Amino acid sequence: MSAQEAQDAEGGVGPDPAPAPVEVAPGLLMLPLRSPTLPPATHTNCFLVGDSEAVLVEPASPYPEEIDRVVALVEARRAAGGDVVAILATHHHVDHIGGAVALKERLGLPLFGHALTAERLRGLVSFDRLLEDGERIALGAPGEMTLEAVHTPGHAPGHLCFVDTRSGAMIAGDMVAGVGSILIEPTDGDMAAYLDSLRAMADRRPSMLLPAHGGPIHAVAAKVEQYVSHRLMREEKVFEALRSLQEREREQKRARDGGPEDDGCTPEELVPWAYDDAPPAVYPIAALATEAHLIKLEGDGRVTSAGGRWRVAGAP
Ligand SMILES: [Zn+2]
Repeated sequence: MSAQEAQDAEGGVGPDPAPAPVEVAPGLLMLPLRSPTLPPATHTNCFLVGDSEAVLVEPASPYPEEIDRVVALVEARRAAGGDVVAILATHHHVDHIGGAVALKERLGLPLFGHALTAERLRGLVSFDRLLEDGERIALGAPGEMTLEAVHTPGHAPGHLCFVDTRSGAMIAGDMVAGVGSILIEPTDGDMAAYLDSLRAMADRRPSMLLPAHGGPIHAVAAKVEQYVSHRLMREEKVFEALRSLQEREREQKRARDGGPEDDGCTPEELVPWAYDDAPPAVYPIAALATEAHLIKLEGDGRVTSAGGRWRVAGAP
């Protein structure tokens, strides 16, 4: 199957319920697994990386038949004389870590991830080695293949991307998507950090991005630029919505009782204006993203918050 066909299957275009593994770069096998992810995505890409010695990246799916497929892939590699030595996690979300416990046990492999990922999963999933930004995992004979961990917070605090230093391909987890979009919400996410991480990813000039959802992305600089400018466009819409709703409320109060005060706005109140290009079905998720934008705007000194209500900074 080609990468394009894999992407089509991911997007629900093809009926294939179990897409076959596809070699996206030498020694870099991508296996889309059905997972409990956000629509329109239906699968999370798991990767087997390495030649004589390999690691499994994204133990994504909790579904038994999908775990069986990963086990079969690893067992086939072992039967062919290859070694598989560890499982690597990009971050703690269930559609990325859901198969970790079962795969660790069935394959007898240690699990590696960032300390902030391990912290979020304490009591649920145990990690055997913590990876820091810049840490390298050498695979096989000296010079054969190396994966470098890159800490990319923003979508999740412990998010790691992994660069195959031989091909320059970057396993990008949930930093970008080939299908659907990336949610930045206040519990796990940080919009300012997300934009910084995206720019840092582009600065490394990877040969391609391998997202968790959807096929490989070859036009890396254009994709990252599109992501950053889209978020900044949304940020302005959130700010504009807040400014105009606040102004309207002040005018109404002035007409009623002469008072200049306003109560500020909640993210939910801003959504129909900030997301006037989106269907109401996405409003609950959009409210989370709006709050993430407001937190960034507060860090930039453009808005303030009190008691869950937001106001333009310096407004009367
Ligand atoms: Zn995620």
